[in-house]
Amino acid sequence: MIYLDNAATTRTAPEAVEAMLPYFTEYYGNAGGIYRLAGESRKALLQARETIAKTLGAQTNEIFFTAGGSESDNWALKAVFEAYRSKGRHIITSKMEHHAVLHTCAYLEEMGAEVTYLDVDAEGIVDVEQLKRAVRPDTILISVMYANNEVGTIQPVREIGEIAAGHGILFHTDAVQAYGHLPIDVEECHIDLLSASGHKFHGPKGAGFLYVNQKARIRALLHGGQQERGRRAGTENLPGIVGMAAAAQLAHEAMEERNVRETALRDYLINRIEQRVPGAVLNGHRRKRLPNNVNISVEGIEGETMLIMLDLAGICASSGSACTSGSTDPSHVLLAMGMSRERARGALRLTLSEENTREELDVVVEELESIAARIRGLLVK
Ligand SMILES: *Cc1c(COP(=O)(O)O)cnc(C)c1O
Repeated sequence: MIYLDNAATTRTAPEAVEAMLPYFTEYYGNAGGIYRLAGESRKALLQARETIAKTLGAQTNEIFFTAGGSESDNWALKAVFEAYRSKGRHIITSKMEHHAVLHTCAYLEEMGAEVTYLDVDAEGIVDVEQLKRAVRPDTILISVMYANNEVGTIQPVREIGEIAAGHGILFHTDAVQAYGHLPIDVEECHIDLLSASGHKFHGPKGAGFLYVNQKARIRALLHGGQQERGRRAGTENLPGIVGMAAAAQLAHEAMEERNVRETALRDYLINRIEQRVPGAVLNGHRRKRLPNNVNISVEGIEGETMLIMLDLAGICASSGSACTSGSTDPSHVLLAMGMSRERARGALRLTLSEENTREELDVVVEELESIAARIRGLLVK
């Protein structure tokens, strides 16, 4: 099997699994208890918070653990809207956000929010000039993703953060694809809220976090106990949190080397596909993209068809976001980039990890070449 769907989820690193195990079997105490066993849990929780805070240049009390990226996105948007609605009801986001942001915005519109959806250019980059013009006296939040999950485009986050800061507007970024893959400094980029998810950087599923600048007011997401400084009630998912922190540590230790390696693999795959598969075009920006993301459309061939045939050859890939697979609607991200519905339906996303090899990529290119030829042959008859 060749796994090329790392934007959907990653294999949990053995080191992360190893770190988690004692928190199922030995240190299973509730961090809220007063006995020593609970103390072990509290210690691990604090350590995990410190590890993650350090990777962002943040304070420990600015990290709130959640159950993943969708929860963090929901929390960030809803809590800011609730806390600041007396100041204003206007939110600015982009047309190519993940549905965890877009569907939350739609919900907030029902609750009385006014949302501006920024355009993106043909390579998937947010129009910063349009953003400047969109700012209003009642704008309370700008939410633009760090890097896109379908085409891997990296947004001008620092510029966006500077605009937000200049107007005293909070800036949230969905960094689920970027965290653990790119270096992020929340202060330098004026980021007030940031979402991340463990399973996108070789941590376990069901564990994520939301960074919240201490200067930002934020409402509770879940009401109940005093966990997460009273903002998210419920006994902590300690094994998940410990595993996520271990994965975060690993991801940041080897980040530079890994990025060099992944970028080389990415560009190798893009070049080979462009050379060998007739009608293949790259979607997204050639350089301002995640080191592990390849997204192509092959003229006249549906992405879904290629996926099924790749699967028969033991290759796991995706047509875009995992959340839209199964539906034949073209991706909202590719449409926002101005693509025809046909090209958007032809999209194939191949997302690497450092575990992939050139030999594997050669196999993938060969398969794609043969699949394209077979489908074209059928179409001609
Ligand atoms: C995967 C993903 C999410 C959702 O994260 P979950 O942990 O699966 O809830 C949100 N935003 C982006 C950009 C993602 O890639």
